[in-house]
Amino acid sequence: MSGVVQLKVVDTMRRVRRLFRDQRTNLIKWMRGKPLTYWELSSKTFDSEDVVLAKRLMGEKEMWFDEQPVRDFEARFGKWTGSKYAFSFCGGRESLVAIIKALELCPGDEVILPGYTCVVVANAFRAHGIRVNYCDIELDTFGLDADAVREKIAAGRPRAILIHHLYGLVCRDYEKLIDIAKNSNLPIIEDCAQATGALYKGVRVGNLGDVAFYSSEQTKIFSTVKGGVAVTSDDIIGSRLRDVHKEAALPDGQWIERLLITALLNYYQLKHPRRYILGDIHDVMYGHRRIEPYSKEEFLGRCGKNYMRKMPGAVAVLGLNQLRNIDRYNALRRESALKWDVWCERNGYRKPVVIPESVPVYLRYPVMVEPEKKRDISWGYSQLGVSLGRWFVTNVHPASWPVTGCPNADRAVASCVNFPT
Ligand SMILES: *Cc1c(COP(=O)(O)O)cnc(C)c1O
Repeated sequence: MSGVVQLKVVDTMRRVRRLFRDQRTNLIKWMRGKPLTYWELSSKTFDSEDVVLAKRLMGEKEMWFDEQPVRDFEARFGKWTGSKYAFSFCGGRESLVAIIKALELCPGDEVILPGYTCVVVANAFRAHGIRVNYCDIELDTFGLDADAVREKIAAGRPRAILIHHLYGLVCRDYEKLIDIAKNSNLPIIEDCAQATGALYKGVRVGNLGDVAFYSSEQTKIFSTVKGGVAVTSDDIIGSRLRDVHKEAALPDGQWIERLLITALLNYYQLKHPRRYILGDIHDVMYGHRRIEPYSKEEFLGRCGKNYMRKMPGAVAVLGLNQLRNIDRYNALRRESALKWDVWCERNGYRKPVVIPESVPVYLRYPVMVEPEKKRDISWGYSQLGVSLGRWFVTNVHPASWPVTGCPNADRAVASCVNFPT
């Protein structure tokens, strides 16, 4: 047997064993009258109609690279966010690379980043030789702290600032940060990966800064398994983004097929009413073809092999359908957040801050708890029946690089858990 075949057999055996183990656990739970499965972190907006779409797309390979759905998706997304230009890529992280190119950031430049972020955000800069200067956050909304940014600007020579809106909250110092950047003549990149659709003074986040990116990764506000959009209303950045997008490559058919399979897997494992059995069966059959959220390289601080690929037609078709339902889902998320507000009040925890005139989208509901309650989150399931999220578990999640001088970020790493919405 060749090594590859051997690996595949071992992997399938592992999945079959898991199926038996899960089903035994389910049987015990069922006999004790306990719920069988619970909501997970991913693809909550992926419904049976999206499944029908994904299955149809599997059989229509000839349209996987059609440009029309991509243009429609970008037009509709731009209109919905209120941005003049929108260009879609195969991920938020890949959109960020496009933005770095459009802003003409160069090796040796320095950029200010929150000291509480995803490794793929840092990688996008590091891979282009750009120095990352981590800056502290505030603990009201987990965004960049304006005073800390002022100090960084005074002490160094940054070329750009990346701000973010985490967990679907509009960051506390939004306007202050924009003013600081304007006064210092620095462009602001808005990381809206977790806040697609959140509003500030009636305008979607992503529109106060110079350029922004969104994500339709499987754990985000809306899902195409992998996907991202870069937007701007600035004509110069918009035209550069257009050039970058034009030159970008497309993913190959095999990747698109795996993406469609992952979409189906997510549905059968996380959302189908009989997911407790169908999920395991689909995992045995197709689990080895799932697209994982991070590659090994990305963990190690490098970009993936073919970063900055543009979104193909097949993925845009899924995205278009997701956009039809996004407002309804965001309203549902806000409704479930009310439940966690009550929980916080009853249990003496601080609610996340919703800044005046903002409408959050609550991708998750973040709460600062005792560090031991973050280290072991099983209480979420045993006491509340939900699976708690732990992001971020490190300053540059999930890589374990040291980040210094960000005490609030360190506190969030130690104590911030997030509830599902
Ligand atoms: C998920 C995420 C990204 C990256 O988006 P992808 O689509 O997964 O590449 C960037 N920033 C934040 C804050 C995120 O949560």
